[in-house]
Order: sequence, then structure tokens, then C-alpha cells
Amino acid sequence: MGALQGAVIPVTPFQQNCTILWDDGSKRAVVVDPGGDVDRILAAIDHAGVSVERIWLTHGHLDHAGGATELQDTLRERAGEPAGVPIEGPDQRDEFLLQGLEAQGRSYGIALRNVTVDRWLHEGDSVAFGGHRFDVLHCPGHTPGHVVFVNHAARFALVGDVLFQGSIGRTDFPYGDHAALIRAIAEKLLPLGDDFTFLCGHGPSSTIGAERRGNPFLR
Ligand SMILES: [Zn+2]
Repeated sequence: MGALQGAVIPVTPFQQNCTILWDDGSKRAVVVDPGGDVDRILAAIDHAGVSVERIWLTHGHLDHAGGATELQDTLRERAGEPAGVPIEGPDQRDEFLLQGLEAQGRSYGIALRNVTVDRWLHEGDSVAFGGHRFDVLHCPGHTPGHVVFVNHAARFALVGDVLFQGSIGRTDFPYGDHAALIRAIAEKLLPLGDDFTFLCGHGPSSTIGAERRGNPFLR
């Protein structure tokens, strides 16, 4: 097993950080949150010379999940394998969002497809690609089924729209829950340790320590 490598591709008009992670030895890879601009994601996969074996979703919002079905179909056609690349995550409590993507896309004037998840994730599950294991934390509040992927070996996490550099996820949706979001950050993310680096769904990466000290929403 080699080292964990990554590339971030901002996608959709929402500039969502689609992330490709791969093992630099085997070149086996995962794509996290392919919200759209699938052509650009495929170009980045080819540029890195990696083989995608998983698609992971942090939550069901269109800028994170809107391109997942198209990416899955394209990778299946390329590989010529009917089994294809499974979509793993989020927690099933986001199924209503994933099944509403087509309708939501119409209201934004963009063609989106609903997402059928191959494996729903739960708190305490683990997922893996290329020998790299990530533990799953259920962190609701931004959406009910939001999950975070944690790699303890590399002290690294993918937190989606839970926590940002200097900010936190929106909760002004009908299904949003500010108290639950703050509780998830306090009880699940901050205890990971100050040295943990995280990538978020929008904007620059940060560390748990920097947010513990400086994030105004966590005071
Ligand atoms: Zn979101």
C-alpha cells in the first residue's frame, strides 16, 4: 500500500470541492462528491492515471451528488464491467434528497439524475479503497443523513458541508437542525485531534485545531 494522494476539482456553479483520492502505489481511487461537471472529473481521473473503484457521497445535495449517476454510468461503460463502481453513502436519511435531484435540477435549469445508492452508510461503518480505510461518522444538521469520512492513519477527514474554514454548514433548510450540527462537530469532529487536516465541500482546507481555536461558530 502506498501513500494517500488527492486532487480537488471544484464543480458546479456552487464551486463544490469534488475530491479524487488514490493510492500512489496501486493507483486505485475513489471519487468523493461528484456534484456535476463530470467531463472535468473524468479528465482529472485520466490526468492522475488512476482507476476509480468507489464513489462516496457525504450527503444528498445536488452540488455534491448531482453527477454521481452520470459518473457511475460512464465508468461502467469504460470498464465494460456490468458490476461497475458502487455508490457508497450517505446515510439513508438523505434518500429523499437523492430521489429529488431531477426535480430540483429542473428548478435550477440543470439536467440532473436521481441517485440510487448501492450501500447506505451508518455511524461506525468503515469504507475503503486501495487498502485505505475510512471510518464513517454520521454528522446530521446540514442534512439529516450527512456523513464524514475519517482516515486515522493519515490524520485526514472529508467533512462535506459540516465544517468549513471559519464557518459551518447551512441549516436554514426545512430539514436543517443547527443544534444537531453543533453537537456533531463538538462530539465527533473536534475530538479527532487538533492535528487532523480536513477537506470541506466548499473553500479551502483547514485543521481541527485551527477551527477549535478560531471558528466563530464554535464559541
Ligand atoms: Zn450541502
